[in-house]
Order: sequence, then C-alpha cells, then structure tokens
Amino acid sequence: MNILIVGAGLYGSICAYELGRQGHTCKVIEKREHIGGNVFTRYEEAADCHEHVYGAHIFHTNSEKIWNYVRQFADFNHYVNRVKVAHGDALYSFPINLLTLYQVFGTRTPEAARERLAAELVANDNPANMEEFCLSAIGPTLYTLFIEGYTAKQWGRHPRDMPAAAVKRLPVRFTFDDNYFNDRYQGIPVGGYTAIIEKMLERAEVETGVDFNADRDAWMRAYDLVIYTGALDAFFDYRLGTLEYRSLRFEREILPVRDFQGNAVINYTEQSVPWTRVIEHKHFDLSLKADKTLVTREYPAAWERGQIEYYPVNNDTNDGLYQRYRALADALGHKVHFGGRLAEYRYYDMHQIVGAALAFCSRVSA
Ligand code: UDP
Repeated sequence: MNILIVGAGLYGSICAYELGRQGHTCKVIEKREHIGGNVFTRYEEAADCHEHVYGAHIFHTNSEKIWNYVRQFADFNHYVNRVKVAHGDALYSFPINLLTLYQVFGTRTPEAARERLAAELVANDNPANMEEFCLSAIGPTLYTLFIEGYTAKQWGRHPRDMPAAAVKRLPVRFTFDDNYFNDRYQGIPVGGYTAIIEKMLERAEVETGVDFNADRDAWMRAYDLVIYTGALDAFFDYRLGTLEYRSLRFEREILPVRDFQGNAVINYTEQSVPWTRVIEHKHFDLSLKADKTLVTREYPAAWERGQIEYYPVNNDTNDGLYQRYRALADALGHKVHFGGRLAEYRYYDMHQIVGAALAFCSRVSA
C-alpha cells in the first residue's frame, strides 16, 4: 500500500518503521520543522548532554516486549527517575515514601508511618474530585505540601475542580523506595530520542514543515491509507468545538557550573513559585563531565489553538466532545486511522504509545 503518515512523533515513526518493514511505502509529513514530536532531543555541546526540548521524557515500561522493542533502536542507560520536591526552604524525597513521611511527620518505621497517616485521612468512599480523593488517600498535610499547589499550577485549576485520575499515577510507599515509577524497566536512550526516531524513519520519505490539514482532501485522495497522529478536532476543522489542552513554556539557561541541583528533576510544589519543575538535563545522560550545565524551568501555560499541545485535559466535557469527534472519525471507515496521544486525546506515556502503535501495525498486516 501507499501510506501517508501525518506526524513524525513516536506513534507515527513506529508506524513508518513497522509498515515499511512489511513492504508498504510510507511517506511521513510533519508540521514542525523537526521530527520526533515532543520526544525531540538535541545535543547541547556546552553541557555535553541531550536536551529534552519539550520536557523530561523518561522511558519506563513493565513489558519486556516493549523494552526489547525500543532497545533495537538504541542502548538505554540505567537512569532511574528519583524526583525531589522543593517547598519553601525544605527539600523532600518524592514520590511519597518512608523518607518523605519521616521528613514530614518524624515517623521512622513503616508501622509508625502507616499509623500516623491513617490518623490524618478523611474517610470518603466516593471522592467526587481530586481534592477529596487526596484527602482520603494521603490526608491534608501531604496534600497541601505536595499536591494542591503543584496541581493548581500544572492544570490551571484547583484540584477540587478536577477528576482524581491524573494524581492516581503517583505511588505512596511505606518503604524507602523513591523510584518515581513502579515499572520493571527504565532508562534514557544513549544518544537521545531523536536518533531513535531517525532510525525508525530510515525507510520512509520524510517532509517537515508540512501542514496536512491545510490541504487535507488532496492528501487523502493520493494515498491508500492515512495514519493521522495530529489533534482530532483539527482534522475536522474544529466543527464541533475545541478539545482543551494544557501547555508548557520552558526557560532554558546554560549555567557556568558543573552541577546545579544534583538531580535531573526537582518539583516546586508551592503555588507561589511560578514554575513546576527545574530540569537539569545532563543528569538524564548520567554525565557530569562538562563544566557547564543546561537547566530548564518548566512553566505550565494556557493553550490556544495553533500552539503545541502537551497534556489533554481529560474531564467529562472534553471527553464527551472527543467521543463526538470519534463518531465522525469512525464514519470515515478504514481509509484513515487516528492514533497517538493527540488523535486519541489520551494522557499516554511513551511505552503506551509503543504498545498502541505496534498493535495497530499488526492489524494492518493481517
Ligand atoms: N503531582 C503533584 N505534585 C508533584 C508531582 C505531580 O501534585 O510534585 C500531580 C499533578 O496533578 C500532576 C500529576 O500528579 O499532573 C501527575 O504527575 P506526573 O509527574 O506523572 O506528570 P508528568 O510527568 O506527566 O507531567
């Protein structure tokens, strides 16, 4: 088949690789001037590291199959995400673990920590929003310290006006394990993510700086199958309304020090500090050799049409609108496939994208 893939992010690039391998001819068009979507990295010579240009991307998965799959494109280092939290003058271990509970409550054992926390909890069998969920799961002290301010900044609304889903990603542990993720496999590709995407796109013809939606009908006519990884509402010219996203703004700085903060990620959970995270990129590459360092401050931002989408805002209103767009998409039949974080309007991690793209490609060959 002659296949057009719209978007050179992770989903589209895996499709290009897999379908190319099956003998299909793939053309990839990408709106931005570079490939990789939001996993795009570039080498920063001054700090001798790869810059995660659209924010920190740490690969993690529980699936041996997905782990083996991505490692055919690069070696992965043994980076483990161990985030610290800055709040006022204090620094805390995070996600909430036995050390955090010691730092906040002074409890030294799992049993003492469990007891102390249990006394804090506000029982609620049916929490109606993120705040109620947090009060019932971690109590007011930890909620105020770690969740309330950060979430209000990140999502631009108070946790009491949000569903609990996003925060359920975060574990609470009664051990000293401070790994941000529970997955068996974790790491960062040596050489950056862009090199992986380049390999995935090896067999495809790639054009950047091309806006599919500006010339959609002509593109659609010219191919047997279109794989569209852009925003679903944009495909339908926003005719039912706009799906909401949350955006980010990054302030980058090269600093004349070898190590600025001693860690890749420090979260700033107070509402009065305008950024949510400070990323020091060289720690992702596990290399402190350069005598300079690259640091980015991550500021959550409102999103408007035409800007880069980061996080889908999966509340009832947006998910309902998405379903209505989905019905339009389904009516188009099999000639166009909608896949990936934007087209599926889901808060996907990278490993989920890999799994979804591979599942789709196996259906194409069948
Ligand atoms: N969160 C928080 N405090 C933190 C980190 C996360 O309240 O220090 C909440 C926040 O609502 C966030 C969600 O947990 O959106 C998921 O965080 P995660 O770090 O998984 O988000 P991502 O890395 O995808 O931005």
